[in-house]
Amino acid sequence: MNNTRLTLYFPPDLTCKAFTYDLVKEYDWKINIIKASISEGQEGRLLMEVDTSSEKLKEGLEYLSNSGIEVKNLEKQVYIDRDECISCGACTGVCLPGALEMDKNTWELVHNPEKCIVCGLCESACPIGIIKIGF
Ligand code: SF4
Ligand code: SF4
Repeated sequence: MNNTRLTLYFPPDLTCKAFTYDLVKEYDWKINIIKASISEGQEGRLLMEVDTSSEKLKEGLEYLSNSGIEVKNLEKQVYIDRDECISCGACTGVCLPGALEMDKNTWELVHNPEKCIVCGLCESACPIGIIKIGF
């Protein structure tokens, strides 16, 4: 079995369809939804953990792709060399889900992996190049 972290991006015309139901019923995906941002008629995003066999994972991903849903695998992680951080806050300004923030008491950088969608924007925003995205 696999435990895979995925983000699904729904175009506006697809947000009202029951894709997760199909993934559970037809593709045997055991889904743990971590974060959902879906409104009918607008773009939607679903962050989830999936537990299923490799074969069923592949089949479900093909189903989503054929349905026009973009999927990103979140196996990659953000690595920050905290010893070198100068607490400038530049990375927090580009982090849309709020995974990076400055601690209001210590002004040290805090990274919340559960909010991170591994978009990579912080990597290029850091002026001293101490944020890396990798496996
Ligand atoms: S990769 Fe994206 S979501 Fe994650 S901490 Fe960096 S900017 Fe935020
Ligand atoms: S942009 Fe770089 S130096 Fe600035 S707070 Fe973020 S990790 Fe630290």
